[in-house]
Amino acid sequence: MPTKHTTRQVVRKEVLLSEYRTHEAEKADFSSSEHPLLKKAREPESAFPHLSEVELMRHYHRLGKSNYSWDDGLYPLGSCTMKYNPLINERVAAHGAVQNLHPTLPLEHTQAVLRIIFETESMLKTLLDLPGVTLQPAAGAHGELIGVLMVQKYFEAKGEKRETIIIPESAHGTNPASAAMAGFKTVKVGARENGLTNLEELEKLLSPDIAALMITNPNTLGIFEVDIARIKAMLDKVGALLYIDGANLNALVGKISFTAMGADLTQLNLHKTFSTPHGGGGPGQGALGVSERMLPFLPKEQVRLKDPTNREKGYEFFNPTQTIGQVKSWYGQFGNILRAWTYLKTWGSDAHRIAETAVMNANYLRVKLKDILTLASENPSMHEVVFSQDGLEKRGLTTANLAKALLDYGFYAPTIYFPLNVHGAIMIEPTETESKAEMDLFIEAVHAIYENADQHKAGAQKTFVTQIDETGAARNPVLSWGS
Ligand SMILES: *Cc1c(COP(=O)(O)O)cnc(C)c1O
Repeated sequence: MPTKHTTRQVVRKEVLLSEYRTHEAEKADFSSSEHPLLKKAREPESAFPHLSEVELMRHYHRLGKSNYSWDDGLYPLGSCTMKYNPLINERVAAHGAVQNLHPTLPLEHTQAVLRIIFETESMLKTLLDLPGVTLQPAAGAHGELIGVLMVQKYFEAKGEKRETIIIPESAHGTNPASAAMAGFKTVKVGARENGLTNLEELEKLLSPDIAALMITNPNTLGIFEVDIARIKAMLDKVGALLYIDGANLNALVGKISFTAMGADLTQLNLHKTFSTPHGGGGPGQGALGVSERMLPFLPKEQVRLKDPTNREKGYEFFNPTQTIGQVKSWYGQFGNILRAWTYLKTWGSDAHRIAETAVMNANYLRVKLKDILTLASENPSMHEVVFSQDGLEKRGLTTANLAKALLDYGFYAPTIYFPLNVHGAIMIEPTETESKAEMDLFIEAVHAIYENADQHKAGAQKTFVTQIDETGAARNPVLSWGS
């Protein structure tokens, strides 16, 4: 029977450092000239682990290897756009000329920083076809909050009091959260059979108390809200604003005008569409695009040319006339703005190909998987494809079983059980950076799991930790070790 300390090779169990090695042989007595701190560490009652450098290094290396990243394979986490982050972004962000800049330097020494912010905003304005973009949001949800604060200010300036924002039932949880943080009440509008917003229901909810509709397009079922222009006209009738959650821009980048869709506000996630690190890889970075009538309410410290007719004169900050105020200190996550700038410059006028390939890849997976998984909507997929659990149930499997089994096949799991209006949702977003060969492997894995259903009901077998009691972990979390 292997001991606790040798089982790692068998089941890949990694013990905590403090459990690592406590047997007597390690507690050798050193000379009395030893430093008192070291001596204390070697005392039998000390919880300080007794490890050599190589043991310590291997412990962390093994932990590191148990992570899953884009570098390992397909990362189909729907709604998160886990695309490959090109290494050229890192090279540029690590450039000595910008790496050690201090935010308190006088503006004449940070003109290059202002220029990169200005150019990134300009490129995003062109891609969205909107008159204003700010890079002040620290992330997508922060962009939403800034957006709804601007909605509030807009009505305040008109002398109107509007207290409610309408949000479709399939919305990302951050939408109602942002609206509530800004002090709005939220009401839910349902979806039709095909997953699109229910216009009859929307009509009934509209009144002069409605400040805005916050809608995601493409929505979280991965389908395009084809009635967006009609929705805009309905909102106009009651003087309400249109907020489009643009986190799913990967499906639309360079392909559609947000002005034509009627957007007053739309936040983007540079860490999704514009390939900056994402999910444990560093801070996010958002952007907020706005229509003409929202420009005066933008946050403080927007960047502009000192002289619009002469770039040579440089850049400066300015405060819009009816600004909502300060929302971010210094220059934002400048390292990420620089990575997004690099990405945008790399694509240039070809940026629309991002969306074309992303949509093609999602539809490839849709076609190859729809015979065994059940589609959540018959409408064509945009950047992601969403299935319900119905197909899996025929084999006695749940969505969670599929997600865990995929880990055993060497893939990251898709987003599951979101959106809430799909029974056991499975949300797969391959992004444009996956090859056909990698997607074929994934398709094969899903088919193998479906066919060998009986082997996959007990959770993942080959992962670092298996058979987690998820309900117990959620209801009775034990957040410390050893007590
Ligand atoms: C990711 C996402 C958000 C939130 O963005 P964060 O950068 O994680 O704050 C909001 N809405 C949708 C639809 C998203 O996919």
